[in-house]
Amino acid sequence: MGGTFDPIHHGHLVAASEVADAYGLSEVVFVPTGSSWQKAGQVRTDGEQRYLMAVIATANDPRFRVSRVDIDRPGDTYTVDTLEELHKQYGPDTSLIFITGADAIAGLHTWHRHDRVLELAQFVGVSRPGFSLADSGDERISVMQVPAMAISSTDIRRRVAQRRTIEYLVPAGVARFIEKQGLYLDTVDER
Ligand code: ATP
Ligand code: MG
Repeated sequence: MGGTFDPIHHGHLVAASEVADAYGLSEVVFVPTGSSWQKAGQVRTDGEQRYLMAVIATANDPRFRVSRVDIDRPGDTYTVDTLEELHKQYGPDTSLIFITGADAIAGLHTWHRHDRVLELAQFVGVSRPGFSLADSGDERISVMQVPAMAISSTDIRRRVAQRRTIEYLVPAGVARFIEKQGLYLDTVDER
């Protein structure tokens, strides 16, 4: 599951858990992006801090791990490179499933080298409140309903900037890390 994870929240974790259960996955790898061109021009939290929050959020779940491939690779993050790298690490006998929310799946055809991307992994698009999840008609992209979590990282950043609570939207350890590091206090309204 790729994402900015700025910060990781319970919407991400429920999506990963549901797909892992439905598809009998041996593990879910969370891959925080390096500098993503899709979010170019926006101020983004340091990759190291986004990585640490993902580690904190997943530490208690033996099915989950976090990969540094994208934050350690210089330059923009392209999913095609991420998947090529994971294929090398896991070997040819491992099949990869890329988990993505309804909003992200809608733009898949605009991704860099999307034909190759779809060769490298099966895609599962999960439902997300506020976005419609149409059957793509493409057998390489499946869709799945998951319990609705109307949570976004954008909303969490805005809440912190407005000194409102983020309790129960993110794992407790992530909320403490955000406080301790003073993240998002100066977020300017993005929407
Ligand atoms: P931002 O608001 O900064 O874009 P986000 O909440 O959308 O953050 P991302 O890191 O952009 O989080 O998303 C990573 C992946 O998780 C994407 O595929 C996205 O569609 C999916 N996702 C994020 N939040 C949810 C949610 N609440 N339910 C289902 N899928 C989600
Ligand atoms: Mg997003």
